[in-house]
Amino acid sequence: MARRAAYTKVERGSFLNPIHVTGMGDKTFRGFQCLNKDCTDFLFIRTETIDPDFEYPCPSCGFVHKAGESTTIYTYKLCDTRDDSLIEEGPFEILHDDYVNESGEYKYCIVCGALKPFELFDFHSARRTGRQGECRVCKQTYNAIKNGTRLAEQHREASQKRRLYTHFKSTGKIDIAEIYKRFENCCFKCGIDLSDDLTAGVAKKEGNLDHSLPVYYLWPLTTENATLLCRECNGEKAGKWPVNYYNDAQLKRLSVLTGIDHRLMAGDPTFNPSAIESLKDPQLRRDPF
Ligand SMILES: [Zn+2]
Ligand SMILES: [Zn+2]
Ligand SMILES: [Zn+2]
Repeated sequence: MARRAAYTKVERGSFLNPIHVTGMGDKTFRGFQCLNKDCTDFLFIRTETIDPDFEYPCPSCGFVHKAGESTTIYTYKLCDTRDDSLIEEGPFEILHDDYVNESGEYKYCIVCGALKPFELFDFHSARRTGRQGECRVCKQTYNAIKNGTRLAEQHREASQKRRLYTHFKSTGKIDIAEIYKRFENCCFKCGIDLSDDLTAGVAKKEGNLDHSLPVYYLWPLTTENATLLCRECNGEKAGKWPVNYYNDAQLKRLSVLTGIDHRLMAGDPTFNPSAIESLKDPQLRRDPF
C-alpha cells in the first residue's frame, strides 16, 4: 500500500495555526515544575532568554525561582554507622541554577500546536533545534494519509472499528448445531465434552464459540470461522492469532475442520483484506457489510 505515496499529495483544509505557535517550530523551551512542593504548576522558559541572573516567579503561587538561591527539600545528618556519631548536618538543598539548567527541553509542534518534550520529535539536522517541526504523532498520521495506509493502520482506534466489532460479534447467521457437529461436541483444545451445552441446536452456555481468526483483525464470526472451545479454553485463547495458541498439529487439524488455510493461521496475524477494503468505501463505512 505504501507504493501510492509517489503519486499522492495531501491538501489541507480548515487548518488554523494558533498564534502562540506561529514561528515557534524551531524555538526551544526549558520546562520545570514549580519548586514549591504544594504547587503543581509547570513553568516554560524560552531557552535563549535564560539569563545567568534569572528570576522566574511562578504564575500560580508566586514562588520565585532565582539564580544563586536554593530551596531546602529536607535536612540531613551524616552519621558514622559504627557508633552513630554525627559527622555533619545541614540542609539538602537544590540550587535553582542547577534546577533550571537540568530541566527538560520542549518545543511546539507546528501542526497540532502542543508543547512537547524534545524526544517526541524526530531528528532533523537542518533545523536549529535539530528536531522536526512536527511531532512524531503528527508525522505518522500525515504519512499514513499520504501513503494511503491510514485506514489500515489506524482502524484499531477508529470508531468504525468499534462498530465493526459489534457487527462481527453478532451471531445472527451462525449455525450452532453445525459447529457442534463439526467438532463432535467437544472442546477443540482440551477435548472436554460439551454436549450438555447444546439443546436443539441452541447453545445453552454462551462463550463456547471462538473466532478462530480473531475479531481484532476484523474476521467475522461465521459458521466457518468458529471453533468450539469450552469456556476456560476460550478465555485463554481470547483474541490470540491461532499460531499463538495452538500447536502445529492442532493447527493442521483445525484447518481441516474449518477449511481455513493452514498457512494463514500459522503465519503472522493478518487483517481481513475484504474488511479493510470495505473500510475505504464511504458507503460501506456507514453501513458495513
Ligand atoms: Zn508555584
Ligand atoms: Zn503534533
Ligand atoms: Zn477446553
